[in-house]
Amino acid sequence: MLLKKQFGAARVTNESDGVRILRIQNVQPHHCGEVQLSVTHCGKSSSTLRAYTSLVVLPGPTSLQGDSTETTSAADKAIEALNGSELPEVPACILEGPQDCTAHIGGSVKLSVCYEAVPRAQVCWYKGCRPIVEQRNISIRSSAKRSTLLITEIAADDSGKYTVEIMNALGSDAAAASVAVEGPPDAPSGKPSISQGPDRIAVAWCGPPYDGGCMITGFIIEMQQVPAEPNDETDDLAGGESGWHEIATVVDSLAYTVKNLTPSATYRFRVRAKNVHGCSTPSLPSDPVELQAQEIPTEDFHRPICVKSGGDFKSRFEILEELGKGRFGIVYRVQEREDSKQILAAKVIKCIKAQDRQKVMEEISIMKSLQHPKLLQLAASFESAREIVMVMEYITGGELFERVVADDFTLTERDCILFLRQVCEGVAYLHTQSIVHLDLKPENIMCHTRTSHQIKIIDFGLAQRLNKNTPVRVLFGTPEFIPPEIISYEPIGFQSDMWSVGVICYVLLSGLSPFMGDTDVDTFSNITRADYDFDDEAFDCVSQEAKDFISNLLVHRKENRLTAKQCLESKWLTQEHDENLSNKICTDKLKKFIIRRKWQQTLQVPQRNQQIQHYNSNSNKSISKNNAPPCPIPRCLDAPQRRFG
Ligand code: ATP
Ligand code: MG
Repeated sequence: MLLKKQFGAARVTNESDGVRILRIQNVQPHHCGEVQLSVTHCGKSSSTLRAYTSLVVLPGPTSLQGDSTETTSAADKAIEALNGSELPEVPACILEGPQDCTAHIGGSVKLSVCYEAVPRAQVCWYKGCRPIVEQRNISIRSSAKRSTLLITEIAADDSGKYTVEIMNALGSDAAAASVAVEGPPDAPSGKPSISQGPDRIAVAWCGPPYDGGCMITGFIIEMQQVPAEPNDETDDLAGGESGWHEIATVVDSLAYTVKNLTPSATYRFRVRAKNVHGCSTPSLPSDPVELQAQEIPTEDFHRPICVKSGGDFKSRFEILEELGKGRFGIVYRVQEREDSKQILAAKVIKCIKAQDRQKVMEEISIMKSLQHPKLLQLAASFESAREIVMVMEYITGGELFERVVADDFTLTERDCILFLRQVCEGVAYLHTQSIVHLDLKPENIMCHTRTSHQIKIIDFGLAQRLNKNTPVRVLFGTPEFIPPEIISYEPIGFQSDMWSVGVICYVLLSGLSPFMGDTDVDTFSNITRADYDFDDEAFDCVSQEAKDFISNLLVHRKENRLTAKQCLESKWLTQEHDENLSNKICTDKLKKFIIRRKWQQTLQVPQRNQQIQHYNSNSNKSISKNNAPPCPIPRCLDAPQRRFG
C-alpha cells in the first residue's frame, strides 16, 4: 500500500477480515486534496489497483458549535482550499427539508435541513414567527450543507410549527415541519364540586387545561374518607394526603355519582385525567362532605312528633330564642320542659280580633289534617284569650333558595330536579287531601337541615279546602307567583298551586322571575298574558326537559296545566342518570333575586293590596253568584290583611 500524499503522522493498521484503516493525526487544512490508494499484489507489479478519495479538512470540533461567523469562514476556507476559486456560485436552495415528528414530554426532537449554497448560506430557525435562539435545552448546529435543530427536555409548549430559512447573496429558501408533543394530560382544573343527595354524592369536575396533545380517554375518581380525628401533624382535619383510593373511571363525562357510602362519614374527592400516555397528577381535592345519616331513605326521617295536649304553653315549654318573624306572629325555638331533648318551633300569634282568631284556627285545622314528610308538621296548639301558639316541628336548614346560593353549595340541574320532585310530592299529597296551598313561593320552602337536600313546605296561612261543587275565588297571594285566575278573579283550583310551582322552578334554574314587571300592574299584565320566555342566556345550559316541564305549568288555562301527580311522572322529574345534569348553575342572578325579595317583603301590605284591586278595577270580569264579592272591591279577602307578600 502506497500513500501518494504525505502526512506528518499517518499509519495504516491491519484490522480483522483484511480491512486496512488509514489513520491520520494532527491533520491540517493544507492537507485538503486528493488521496490515492494503490494496492499491489506481492511480486506482481503489473497487477496494481488504485482508488481515489477527496480529503476535506474542516475546522476542529470547538469551532463547529453553533452557527458562528467564525465557523462559517473556517468551513468556507476549507472548501475553497479544496476547490480553489473555480467553485461555481449557487443560490441558497433546500435539498431536503425537516420532517414532521412527534415527541414525548421530557424527550427530545431533532429537525434537520440539507441545502446547497455558494457562497455559504445563513440559516435561521423559527418557532411560529419567532427566531429560535440557543438556550439550555435548544441547540443549533449548522455546516455548509446541513443545519440541525435539537430540542431536549421537550415540554407541551414546544409543540407547533418550526420553519427554517436559508439565505445567501443569490437567493433564499424555506421549509417547515410540525412538532407534536404528547404526554399525560394536565390535572383537571380547580377542585371538583360536590352535591349531596339523600343517599349519594354527585361529584362534578372540569376538564384539564392541556389534554397531553391527544384525546382524553377518561377520568379516574379518587375518594378519601376523612378521619374524624387527625392522625398526626401531617393528616389535618381535611384528611391530608393519605388514604386516597380509586373508586371509578368514567369516559365521556365530567360527573360521577358515588353510592353506597357510609352514613355520617366525611369524604373528599379528587380526579385525574388520562390519555394513551398515562394519567395526570390529581386535581385539587373537593371540600369535605359529610353524608347525612338521617337522609336514607328519603321518607324515613318523618316521624310524628308526640306532644301531650292540654296545659298552658309557658308551663309546658321553655322559650329558647327567636327563629323568625312572620307578619302576624313570631316563631321561637322552644324546648319541652318534660323532655329536654324535644326541641320544637312555636309560632305565637296575637289574635285580638275574632276574624284573625278564626283564620288561625283554620290554619291549625288544615295543618292537623296533614301528615307528610314534605309538609311542616303541627305538633300542638295552645289558645289563650289574646294569642294562639302553634307548636311545630323545628326546621334547621333555613330557606331553600338561601341555601342553594351559599358558597358551600354547588347548584346543578340534578339538584333542582331533586327539590322540585319533593315540592311536587308535598303538593300532590296536599291536593289529595283537597287542600290548595295558595302561597307557594321560595320563602315557604325550607331545608330540613343545613346540609340536607330534603325540603319542607311551610306556611299554610292561605291554604284552603276545596270542594268540587263550590267555586272559590280569592284575591291574595304574592304577585310574582300568583296564577292568572287569581288576578282575573276566576275560580281557583288545585292547578293554581301548579302555576306557582312553575314559577319557582323557573326562578331556581335561572335566577330570573318570569313575569316580574316594573310595577305589580305590569307583573299582573305579564301573568295574564302568560308572557314569558327562555331567551335569557341563563337558560343556555338548562335541559329541554326542564323547559318543557315549566312550559306545561305556566299555561294560562289552569285545566291545561300538569297536575302535581303528572309532574312526578314527567320526563324531567323522572330522570336522574343523565350526567349532563351535573353542570354547575350560576347562582349570581338567584342571589339578586333573593335580595330583591327580602327587600320587597319590607314593603307595606296595603300598597300591594291596592294594586291588585286597581288592576282588577280595569277588567270587566263577571263574578259567579257563589262568590258574592265582585271586583273591584273583593270582600272574600279574609287574608289580605294578614298576607300579601
Ligand atoms: P308571613 O306571613 O310573613 O310569611 P307567617 O306569619 O306566615 O309570616 P311563617 O312564614 O310561618 O310566618 O314563619 C316566619 C318565619 O319563621 C319563617 O320565614 C321562618 O324563617 C321561621 N319559621 C317558621 N316556621 C319554622 C319552623 N317550623 N322551624 C324553623 N323556623 C321556622
Ligand atoms: Mg311565610
